[in-house]
Amino acid sequence: MIDLHTHSTASDGSLTPGELAEEADSIGLTAVALTDHDTVDGLPEFMAAAERLGFEGVRGVELSAQFPLGTMHLLGYFIRPRDGSLANSLAELKEARRERNPRIIARLNDLGIPLTMDEVEELAGPGQIGRPHIARALVNMKVARSINEAFHRLLKRGRAAYVEKFRYSPEKSIAIIRQAGGIASLAHPKTLEVTNRRLPGILKELRALGLSALEAYYPDHSPEETSFYIRTAKRLGLVVSGGTDFHGALKDQIRLGVGRSNSHIPDSVLSELKERWVKENG
Ligand code: AMP
Ligand code: ZN
Ligand code: FE
Ligand code: FE
Repeated sequence: MIDLHTHSTASDGSLTPGELAEEADSIGLTAVALTDHDTVDGLPEFMAAAERLGFEGVRGVELSAQFPLGTMHLLGYFIRPRDGSLANSLAELKEARRERNPRIIARLNDLGIPLTMDEVEELAGPGQIGRPHIARALVNMKVARSINEAFHRLLKRGRAAYVEKFRYSPEKSIAIIRQAGGIASLAHPKTLEVTNRRLPGILKELRALGLSALEAYYPDHSPEETSFYIRTAKRLGLVVSGGTDFHGALKDQIRLGVGRSNSHIPDSVLSELKERWVKENG
């Protein structure tokens, strides 16, 4: 069993990179990628723990890209975490979050919800702060009953406390990943919110920009959607990838390795990603 999409306290997961590795080992995963949002800060601890515990750690990152319709996230695998241009780009994305979070809090305050940035920082710890932390704070204050409800009522695009965030274009995001020696995979294609008819055209454009893989295995995909994504990836020469998007307590219902208890990400996914990576990086 493997899982190629997970988050730690370096971004908006609830387990430290070391705890995530312990959990992965205890349930018998043989390979896990840590793919925190806009940061590689968790990778040294995670990779060291994976090595000590004896499973394969995969260096990853997840970048949010501009997309007018829905949400576009690009996963980078096998990146060099200490790459200088990657570090510069990630610093810009961190700055964008630092600028955005207080504005979300201000919106909530305008709505009569007395949350402070200090409270969110306290809850989030030293890693990157994201909307899931704000959602958790709203649950703790009993403003929302669940993180999901906090998103749907207040925090998601189109709701009263939503604030836009600076994002790189898909082109730039893929270039950042490739320049850092990585391979790019489009995460959870369902969140693009485009029809199955339009998806192949978008994937072809992304492929021309250097996209290599498509995350077909994902807990929110139905079996029919998963097989559509697998067929489409194969037809377009993209490698299939997969993961659960595990965030620990910051995304309840999703368990490491198994998602909503029935995700099965074949081991072949990782070997095919690696093969493609070797091909692309000579
Ligand atoms: P941000 O990076 O601050 O824009 O927050 C985006 C994160 O929020 C993503 O990692 C998602 O996993 C998470 N997220 C988005 N919608 C929901 C939801 N309905 N329930 C839980 N988490 C969500
Ligand atoms: Zn997240
Ligand atoms: Fe994502
Ligand atoms: Fe994610």
